[in-house]
Amino acid sequence: MAAGADFAAALVANTTTSTPPAASVRTVHAVEPGLEAAKLMRSEALFARQHVDQAIKHASDGYNARQAELKRQQEAEQARIAAEEAEKARVAAEEAAKAAAKAAAQRPKAAKPAEGAFTSGYGARWGTTHYGVDIANAIGTPILSAMDGVVVEAGPASGFGLWVRVQHGDGTITIYGHVNEILVSQGQQVQAGQQIATMGNRGQSTGPHLHFEVWIGGSQKIDPIGWLGERGINL
Ligand SMILES: [Zn+2]
Repeated sequence: MAAGADFAAALVANTTTSTPPAASVRTVHAVEPGLEAAKLMRSEALFARQHVDQAIKHASDGYNARQAELKRQQEAEQARIAAEEAEKARVAAEEAAKAAAKAAAQRPKAAKPAEGAFTSGYGARWGTTHYGVDIANAIGTPILSAMDGVVVEAGPASGFGLWVRVQHGDGTITIYGHVNEILVSQGQQVQAGQQIATMGNRGQSTGPHLHFEVWIGGSQKIDPIGWLGERGINL
């Protein structure tokens, strides 16, 4: 026999055999369909409300998680861009350093002190010793530092009118005499080939020229021709 028919039979048996309950009891058990429906509806509404709340919470959690993920992605992207910029800056600095090193390597180590005619050499001259070489040219001709160094003196000097003395890394001092105008000052760093003065005719001079000397160790005067020649400079 099917379960449905069983249940229906039991229901019929119950209805036909049971005694009607006492009035007082019936009142307690009385079912008011409207009230029950209202209860059911409240219950359903409550249940639905819980579902809605849960759904909202899930949606909210999902939204927050998504926002957090977006923020994390944005931060990761910003970090990546910052790292890229830092790398670009590092490469640029490296290239600049290489270029500076290359320029420094290509920069001449020595320079001819002045362009002009070689008019007098080192040695005995007119019953005395000429401790330098003379290069003659027009007044105002640029006079250049023979090597990198520091200006140790720039001003008047007996016999030279005005002179500039530059000391180089190994202690050697080069002298530039009879200059017309001094363009550097004492203590100034100069580079090989940098203009330090202009050619003049000051002091005991018979015409516009540069008198150039080389003092090894700052005091021993030698023939500048050999010293310049060792540095690739020929007068
Ligand atoms: Zn001279």
